Amino acid sequence: MLAMPAKDPQRKAPAPKKSLGQNFLIDANVARKIVAALNLRPGDRVLEIGPGRGALTRWIVEAGPERFVALEKDEVLAGRLAETWPEIEVRAVDALKFDWAGLPPGFKLVGNLPYNVASRLIWDLALAFDRFERAVFMVQHEVGLRLTVAPGNRDYGALGAWTRGFAQARYLFRVPPTVFRPRPRVDSAVVSLRPLGPAERPVDPQAYARLIRLCFQHRRKQIRGVLGSGFSPEMAHWLASRGFDPEVRAERLGPDEFKGLLFFL
Ligand code: SAM
Repeated sequence: MLAMPAKDPQRKAPAPKKSLGQNFLIDANVARKIVAALNLRPGDRVLEIGPGRGALTRWIVEAGPERFVALEKDEVLAGRLAETWPEIEVRAVDALKFDWAGLPPGFKLVGNLPYNVASRLIWDLALAFDRFERAVFMVQHEVGLRLTVAPGNRDYGALGAWTRGFAQARYLFRVPPTVFRPRPRVDSAVVSLRPLGPAERPVDPQAYARLIRLCFQHRRKQIRGVLGSGFSPEMAHWLASRGFDPEVRAERLGPDEFKGLLFFL
């Protein structure tokens, strides 16, 4: 049975703040579906980013995690959540400034992410993905595509290549604007991210970031031209073994190719 909060966190709710990307989910079925994608088990540790008025939060509480941490930048909403569910460790902080490396390993992350910071947050989080069990995020549909489409697709770019260097990304389902208040202008998407194993991650994440940024600044240029004098016969040989010639455009290469190229740079 659903554990009903002692106090309704939506009581006399302050007006949504556009600056904090506050489009609140009002559809319990969608909320349950997002939380179900986390596959929560008793004993799990969960961290929710931007719990807001608690649309996802209540279903997470219902699943009875061993630890539940929530990061909410809006101090008023953070106060209400802590009052409503004393079992949650609510932190009134900016998730963009959170020390992910200081969190014990094994947490499951979830959030209907504020759209204005979602891409930046996911970019930063990628570096800490090895600490997490999995993540399920709601983002703008377009960001959902950028995270999950295949190399060469027009929505494929630096964010997808970077994030998938650290995690497997799956587009789970699309969500229409009608299930939010206020309604956003665009559709949303729920995506799941599963960390890659240590051997699959970039050995030098900073070098990986530099290569990805360089390649997507010149996404339609041939990789040979993008790398200039750094492009070696060994690279050409290695790319050929993966079915690519030196004239391949940077935007057609996937995370595995970028990681492989790094060994020759
Ligand atoms: N989870 C709720 C829901 O589904 O209805 C709220 C989602 S709303 C799209 C985004 C939430 O993130 C808001 O509650 C907002 O205050 C919070 N938020 C915005 N920027 C944040 C940040 N940098 N760090 C933590 N929380 C933030």
